[in-house]
Order: sequence, then C-alpha cells, then structure tokens
Amino acid sequence: MEEDITTDLAQLQSHLETMLDRVQQNSATLLKFQAFELRLLKLNSLSDIIDHLLEESKKYFDLDVVSLCLIDEAGEIAKTLNSYPSSLKNGLMLLDKPLKSTAIQPYIGVYEDILCAGFFSHIERQPTSVAITPLTRRGKYLGTLNLGSYQPDRFSGNMATDFIEHLSSVVSVCLENNLNVEEMRRVSYVDALTGVNNRRFLEQRIGEELRCCQRNAEPLSCQFFDIDYFKSVNDRFGHQGGDRVLSLVAAAIRNQLRNNDVFVRYGGEEFVALLANTGEAKALETAERVRKTIQALLIEFNSMSISVTVSIGVSTYAPDSLSIPVDDEIATRLVKAADSALYRAKHNGRNRVENGGVVSDKQVL
Ligand code: GH3
Ligand code: MG
Ligand code: MG
Repeated sequence: MEEDITTDLAQLQSHLETMLDRVQQNSATLLKFQAFELRLLKLNSLSDIIDHLLEESKKYFDLDVVSLCLIDEAGEIAKTLNSYPSSLKNGLMLLDKPLKSTAIQPYIGVYEDILCAGFFSHIERQPTSVAITPLTRRGKYLGTLNLGSYQPDRFSGNMATDFIEHLSSVVSVCLENNLNVEEMRRVSYVDALTGVNNRRFLEQRIGEELRCCQRNAEPLSCQFFDIDYFKSVNDRFGHQGGDRVLSLVAAAIRNQLRNNDVFVRYGGEEFVALLANTGEAKALETAERVRKTIQALLIEFNSMSISVTVSIGVSTYAPDSLSIPVDDEIATRLVKAADSALYRAKHNGRNRVENGGVVSDKQVL
C-alpha cells in the first residue's frame, strides 16, 4: 500500500517536472518571439526587414533554412532593393503570382518535394520538415514565409500553429507598412509626365554621387539640357503636343545614358544628368551624341511630325583632395556651372553643347 503511494507520488512528481519543463520551454520561446518581433518592428527599411527575416530568424528560432516569397507583379520590390547596395539576398524569391494554390493555406509538416520545392528552390540541402505560412494583410496576399528544419519532427502536422500564425501576422504588417512607405518614396521622386526622376531626387542624390566620386578619386560630370523654343511647340501643337515632346525627349536622353546615371526632369523643359566616373571630354562627347539624337528625333502627334533641338551645358567635378569634405556648396557650383554653360549655348545660337569647365574642391568659380 505504502509502496503504491510512493510510486504514484514519484509518477506525479515526474509528471509535474515534465509540465514545468514545458512551461519553461514555452516561456523561453515566447521571449524569443517577443525579442524577434520587437526588433522587426523597429526596422525601417524593406532591405533590413528582409535581412532580419532571412538571417536572424534562423538564430532566434533555431532553424536551418528560411526563405521568403514575395509577390512583386510590377517589379517594384526588385526596383526598391536594387537601389540598396546589398540587393542580392539569398533566400528571397520575387514572384509575379503565388507559387501554388497551397501557398494560400499554411502548410506545416513533412517536406514533400512536389508541395514544397518551389518555396526552397535556392537551397542546396532541402529541409525535412517545414512551415510554409502565407503572409496576408487587409485581404491582400503578400507572399509566404517559409521555415525549414533538418529535424523531421521540428514541424509536424499536429503541432500548435498559434505562434507561427502570430509571427506571420506581425511579419505581414511590417512588410506591408514598409512596402507602402517605399512606394510613396519612389513615387515622390518620379515626375508624373515623363516617368523620369524629379528635381527632388537630384537634390537627394547629388551629395552621395559627389562623395562617391571623391572617395574613388574619379571625376563626375553634370549635363544641363533645355529644349529650344519649346514655348513655340506648345503654341503650335497645344499643351498635349508639348507634353508628348517632353516625354519622348526625356526617354531619348535617358536612352543615351547608362542605367546608373542620375537623370531628372529639373523643371519645365529642362533636364539634368549626373555622369559618375566621367571626365570632361567624355561628358562633352556624350552630350554631343544626345544633341544629335534629339535633332534626328521625329515625334508623331495627331498625324503631324514634331522635331525639336536641345541646348546642353556641361560641367565636371574633379576631386583634388580627400581631406576636404564634399558639401552642398560643391553641388551648387557644379549645377550652376552647367547652367551657365547652357545659357551660353542658348546665346550662341542653340542646338549646341558648351563646356562650363571643371569645378574642383578648392576652386571658387
Ligand atoms: P529657349 O530656347 O530659350 O529655351 O526658349 P523656350 O521657349 O524653350 O523657353 P521658355 O522658358 O520661354 O518656355 C518654356 C515653356 O515650357 C513655357 C512653358 O509653358 C512650357 N512648359 C513648362 N512645363 C510644361 C509642361 O509640363 N508641359 C508643357 N506642354 N509645357 C510646359
Ligand atoms: Mg527653360
Ligand atoms: Mg527652352
């Protein structure tokens, strides 16, 4: 009798210890979740959020494999990430539509090739158990967060999913917020008529472009374009005709530049380009090529053909000192020198390129 009670007590004791263990494990998991989510909520760039999801989540939750599928129909996420230096992320998949119908529902369990391969396509060693969770926000499907482990019992069909569901809700909110902010930022830097960047973008980038050239001891050139007699285009073909000319001239200039050259509509019928690692001679040569391209351009409008020319002023920044920090003054001088050269091009007959010379760190024009 006494022995029975002792055995029962021992069993109870062990049961209690197991339960206490579980409680401790659960609260440790909860703390990890909270820390992970808190960090996630504090991040304020899409790039950092994606890094955090792909890299940090492995450490926080002891996972072997993490990937993220994001729906990017219009290629906007790709564009945003390309504007960050660390744009290539291992584990990120940008898709134009959901991978499979299963992606709409969470899947937690054994890794099955036919079901899961698409979500882990970049990974050399496939996980053995996975949790594929859809990310949705306000009824919009954003993609999936895919967690994988090499342990077969890490994710099983009958496990509680509330932690994972909670995590996917928080991730969805963070992603959606940041996607919206990035979208607003991108739109605020784009000119609605021509689709090229606007003056605000130039102001935001010129300092960074100058600093980069100074660091690498490379020249940077500025080209200032102005369409000749544009007012008369409006007078003859109406505002709509003028708008079409602006769009096509912008596209034609953009076409002559490199992808990473900054090119903006500065105002009205004026455009500015910044050519990194480009000296005076090369900048003048490019400007001449653009001038000829625009001269040869025939713009169809209401069965009529419009042709225009541009005048171009060029200036070049040549860093001569690493010690003097590049400031707003150099940016102003560079743009001003190109603008003055443009003024001369107008004065000297239009449809021509004029050189505004070199702006250096010490020199005052
Ligand atoms: P110049 O050769 O000296 O540069 O002469 P211009 O006629 O090109 O220059 P001016 O500054 O006299 O006229 C610029 C015109 O550009 C006046 C303005 O109405 C027109 N403009 C500015 N923004 C827009 C726009 O968004 N659409 C259209 N259609 N016209 C615009
Ligand atoms: Mg003008
Ligand atoms: Mg003009």
